[in-house]
Amino acid sequence: MLLMEKTIFKRIIDKEIPANIVYEDDDCLAFHDVNPQAPVHVLLIPKKEIASLNQLSEDDSVLLGHLFGVIRELTQKLGLENGYRVVVNCGDDGGQTVYHLHFHILGGRQLGWSPG
Ligand code: AMP
Repeated sequence: MLLMEKTIFKRIIDKEIPANIVYEDDDCLAFHDVNPQAPVHVLLIPKKEIASLNQLSEDDSVLLGHLFGVIRELTQKLGLENGYRVVVNCGDDGGQTVYHLHFHILGGRQLGWSPG
């Protein structure tokens, strides 16, 4: 049997490694990114192991709705009333480095465009 190594985010969910957690419920977890790209840079992840956007199915629609509700709550809690950006990198060309679905929530300054 092929044993897959846990991703770093699964290890954070399992509390094997620490993270600066800002929100947690039964289905998801949010914590500060270790390498912030803006004054506020939080990652929101589902506890369910979904490798990327490409692995989402219709069964995940309730979970996705929940995640976007949590994003809205978090942005209020994080003081991002002036706006923010939510980013999901997918696959190598998309710049994904951790293969556990995650939403970057970025804000606290005027964000530039394009992403490069
Ligand atoms: P991506 O490149 O979209 O896959 O994003 C992965 C993000 O995870 C990057 O912004 C990293 O800085 C962040 N990251 C990696 N390891 C950790 C960690 N242990 N705690 C918090 N953030 C992390």
